[in-house]
Amino acid sequence: MSKSICLGVIGGGQLGSLLCSAAKKLKVKTVVLSDDKDGPAQHFCDEFIHSKYDDNAKVKEFISKVNFVTYEFENIPVDFLNLIQKEKKVLPSPKINKIAQNRKLEKNFINELGINTTDWVFIKSAEDIKKNQHLLPGILKSNTLGYDGKGQFVLNSLDDVKQDWCFTNDYILEKKVNLKKEISVVIARYSNGTMSSYEPIENVHKNQILYKSKIPADISDRIFKSAIQHAKKIAENFSYVGVLTVEFFITQNNELLVNEIAPRFHNSGHLTIEAFNISQFENHVRAVCNLETIPVKKISNAEMLNILGFEINDFKNRSFKKNEFFYDYLKKEPREGRKMGHLTTLKD
Ligand code: ADP
Ligand code: MG
Repeated sequence: MSKSICLGVIGGGQLGSLLCSAAKKLKVKTVVLSDDKDGPAQHFCDEFIHSKYDDNAKVKEFISKVNFVTYEFENIPVDFLNLIQKEKKVLPSPKINKIAQNRKLEKNFINELGINTTDWVFIKSAEDIKKNQHLLPGILKSNTLGYDGKGQFVLNSLDDVKQDWCFTNDYILEKKVNLKKEISVVIARYSNGTMSSYEPIENVHKNQILYKSKIPADISDRIFKSAIQHAKKIAENFSYVGVLTVEFFITQNNELLVNEIAPRFHNSGHLTIEAFNISQFENHVRAVCNLETIPVKKISNAEMLNILGFEINDFKNRSFKKNEFFYDYLKKEPREGRKMGHLTTLKD
């Protein structure tokens, strides 16, 4: 039955590529719509359409070719997703995307569910920061369009607020957490309400970019269970369909705080490709295309290392052991800090 299904994917980066590879395994065809003509997913999908979001003819062509539409990143204009939704089902729902791409709406949503985040406040001016000095040292984050630490400024004191900042964008100011650890929970929810969660993954960031992920996470039973419970509550309240990731902070006092939600599969979940019976990408394709639900089972412990920038050149010339799985995203040019590939190592 799945032979005739065609999934439209907006975005042509590495997440889109890995999604297309998983779809291929399920005999689901993929058409990628990307505004980057070099988008690496062109090497992994069945059809690649390079188009700006406002190119009506190309967007129409994309819509006409697919049965369902999903996306690999959350910063897509919601109006564009709503437009597509008029003709083809977009999953996860654009309503969720609207919340997840806006830190203020996202944190309000989480707090209203009774789940803790860092202390935070919405910021429109330097004056607003002054009024909320109790949140310093803090991190000023652009309210929208941030990823991999982009659009973030550490404010140790009011002296770090530069005179020439003109606050043309909205921000939030968040208290800087004395982090013990970061973890993430990747969870799939199907349209019939079935949920299937991977165990929490422990993450280490360098310069605000994910560096390493591993399972098992070195956390208490209480935190293990609460993190999954929170992820389930969030997915349930969104009536979510697809794979969702919740990023958490664990403070030095063992408090569990939600950092942010990604309405998608996640870099930290790459190890699910080898470490589980079904990967986060396969789970997403199954949920979005309304295929059979398969419960998640762990096969092995694992560690994943992100390969950034020019590091990729060393990996291209290396040989790998049987328990090592190297992915080259086939990006045209390495750039400092750019995610170029990853290596998953299975552990006992
Ligand atoms: P992005 O959207 O760029 O992923 P995040 O808010 O997840 O933004 O921030 C990226 C990383 O920066 C986090 O994973 C964490 O390591 C660090 N970070 C962000 N906010 C805080 C905070 N309030 N306190 C301590 N570290 C933080
Ligand atoms: Mg993040």
